[in-house]
Amino acid sequence: MFIVLFGAPGVGKGTQAEILSAKLNIAHFSTGDAFRAAIKNETEVGLLAKQYVDAGKLVPDEVVTKIVAEALSEEKFSNGALLDGYPRTTTQATSLDELLHGKGQSIEAVVNISVERDAIIERLLARGRKDDTQEIIANRLDVYLSETAPVLQYYKGKQDLLREVDGNKSIQEVTAAILDTLHS
Ligand code: ADP
Repeated sequence: MFIVLFGAPGVGKGTQAEILSAKLNIAHFSTGDAFRAAIKNETEVGLLAKQYVDAGKLVPDEVVTKIVAEALSEEKFSNGALLDGYPRTTTQATSLDELLHGKGQSIEAVVNISVERDAIIERLLARGRKDDTQEIIANRLDVYLSETAPVLQYYKGKQDLLREVDGNKSIQEVTAAILDTLHS
């Protein structure tokens, strides 16, 4: 089962993906984690991605598609994945459809988690990752609105895929709401 966890930076996609991965027995795949690992290991993709990740910009689609195609060919993702932070552009959304189509698979649900902007900024500043400074956060949120939010329109056009979840609640309440929407 392939499930997309969607939403702005800081809405809790990674936290929910970890919990849901254990509960649903589906492997978690975060493009952000994959890029951070590639940067740390100084791989070819890591060297290409570093300047973008550091600035809070989107890594170019062709580099993203490469890392995703490689990752999803791993055995642990053969039955599905909880996709976290991907797709983030409409080009990525169409290439994901093609990739899954080639495997005879498809997306089961797209869960859009929403949190107010001020709360997001507070959460990210508290997390304090290298790209969690005021300026880079503002940049990431702008990029989300201009390039990633339109992906929702893409999924709205696909019957019954999109589910809305309020992320302004406790971690447990958000998990319960996601499970509820997946089962309904
Ligand atoms: P957050 O969602 O909190 O910003 P992530 O760990 O998901 O954190 O992403 C961190 C950075 O990795 C992004 O700012 C971007 O540079 C890069 N990145 C992650 N996923 C993608 C993607 N699908 N397309 C392009 N860039 C990505």
